[in-house]
Amino acid sequence: MAAHLSPVLTQATPVVVDHAHGSWIHGTDGRDYLDFTTGIGVTSTGHCHPDVVAAAREQCGRIIHAQYTTVMHQPLLELTAKLGEHLPEGLDSVFYANSGSEAVEAAVRLARMATGRQYVVTLQRGFHGRTVAAASLTTAGTRFSAGFGPLMSGVAQTPYPDALRLGMTEDEAVDFALAEFDFLLATRINPRELAAILVEPVLGDGGYQAVPQRYLQGLRERATTHGALLVLDEVQAGIGRTGRFWGHQHTEGLVPDVIITAKGIASGFPISAIAAPEAIMARAWPGSQGGTYGGNAVAAAAGVATLGVIERESLVANAAERGTQLLDGLRRSLGGVAEICDIRGTGLMLGVEFGDPTAPAGGPGALEAARLAAGVQRACVDEDLLTLTCGPTGSVVRIIPALVVTADEVDTGVERFARAVHRVCDGAA
Ligand code: PMP
Repeated sequence: MAAHLSPVLTQATPVVVDHAHGSWIHGTDGRDYLDFTTGIGVTSTGHCHPDVVAAAREQCGRIIHAQYTTVMHQPLLELTAKLGEHLPEGLDSVFYANSGSEAVEAAVRLARMATGRQYVVTLQRGFHGRTVAAASLTTAGTRFSAGFGPLMSGVAQTPYPDALRLGMTEDEAVDFALAEFDFLLATRINPRELAAILVEPVLGDGGYQAVPQRYLQGLRERATTHGALLVLDEVQAGIGRTGRFWGHQHTEGLVPDVIITAKGIASGFPISAIAAPEAIMARAWPGSQGGTYGGNAVAAAAGVATLGVIERESLVANAAERGTQLLDGLRRSLGGVAEICDIRGTGLMLGVEFGDPTAPAGGPGALEAARLAAGVQRACVDEDLLTLTCGPTGSVVRIIPALVVTADEVDTGVERFARAVHRVCDGAA
């Protein structure tokens, strides 16, 4: 029998990787692709950074699987100590899992156990993962939750302050969204049953859009007032990607109760974590935290090496500088393209949105926007540039370079991206 991959597991590009280094993927087709996807924001130090490779190789020779509810291993202790240098003040207790979705689930379990309450409120357009609980929190598109319901109960969504789509100023959108949040607590969820408000500081799959700072502050105030936890999903925005170590650090004075991290933490090895103050973490029920593979020794060693590289090579500052260069470059070269409605970015998390953002979802305007974004993403591959699409209606091309990206690579990426846009929008594709 000839087995093959599931037909549902489709790829955004036809590329088959031979090997990769830094910002470059070398295909079996002999072409060199500039990788502005980083495996969906994972390979923070670039592909196969020598320090990460060396740490993983060395750990493979010591012990690969040191199951953490059976024995403890050094890399996990070291990773925890190193992560502690970056965690927000007070969030001193860390639990590890394998994927973003698992960490999200762990955060939900912790919030419910620590508060004795059931409800979790998430943002419309938020993305938190594909397991049933994580999918129940996700509204970045129906494809993530359709077809396998019923979903987990005890979850509600509150509107995102979506200035672009609502045709409002940011201030108007924030006032509207905070009022809607209060209305939700008056009409559907008694605040005494609210366990957590769980949001991304920068929307990832939901459109690469920074959540307005005043809105995040409003959620912080409300969580405190109602005795609920503010849980920040930093799976995509964390570990330097936005030009600060954590995405929420763009918002002055904001301190979460629980932080969720994964992706960039180990440059591609699967490991995720939640962090909370010990007093909250200790309220998780005995036995509720564990897992066969959680906190894998090789992944943890790669994590220690990753954080070392980020510090030594000043990659958070590089993400901020190269992010500004990329945003300026895109705006300069594409400012006049009528089909583009927004070019935005926080550090190295950039989105280019196509079409009319006020067009009703599912209508011809939204479908045209998705067609344009998908066309540009495909045209980028022809230019040897890898990007991805995102957004609830697929109207955004997202650009996610490695934190090690150089000024020259940014210039090359802007040129290739601009050529791809013109091929599609000028009808030359
Ligand atoms: N949260 C956010 C913000 C994410 O971007 C993702 C992955 N795109 C997840 C959770 C889920 O992570 P994973 O795919 O590792 O389960």
